[in-house]
Amino acid sequence: MCQGAAQLVVIVGALAAWLSADLLQARVAQPALWGALDLVAHAAVAALCVAWLVPSWGWAPVVVAACAATALDVDHIATARFEGARITSLGTRSALHSLVGILVLTGLAGWLGNPRVALATGAGLLTHLCRDATQVPGIPLWVPFNAADDVMLPSWTLPALVTLLSAGALLVARGGLPARWGMRPRRHAPPAQ
Ligand SMILES: [Zn+2]
Repeated sequence: MCQGAAQLVVIVGALAAWLSADLLQARVAQPALWGALDLVAHAAVAALCVAWLVPSWGWAPVVVAACAATALDVDHIATARFEGARITSLGTRSALHSLVGILVLTGLAGWLGNPRVALATGAGLLTHLCRDATQVPGIPLWVPFNAADDVMLPSWTLPALVTLLSAGALLVARGGLPARWGMRPRRHAPPAQ
């Protein structure tokens, strides 16, 4: 399968996985299954947003964004599993579900990797926060400045963010960012004479 076809499969598959997981979550009562569907949805939304980069950045951003979007809930899922409850019934989400948490983790990814890794990580984390914020009990967005109030967003914000990030990824894939960022599309070497 050529890269373009594989990219289309991933984009359509991610959209289908996201919508299917959301539909199933509304009908599932078992906490572990509900948590697994939650991870699938988070990974799918993140992959959908960065898959547009594949022609110029390869598959790494898709993997990084999906991993970042799922890793954010590892501690919370362990707690939910221990307590035998849904994640949304645990009162609040972890402190990493905040703007400061995103900035720290994205900066760490950039420090350990490069700007592309940081952008993919940031996109994955941002979609995770937005999706969680559209569901009860919301997210502690302003931790550590305000740990008392969880923030909830209207349900349309997630599709809007996905559209925005996808458009940005398309722009980047087409070389819309300055060369000094090191994000020009890959140039194939000219054939040897
Ligand atoms: Zn979460």
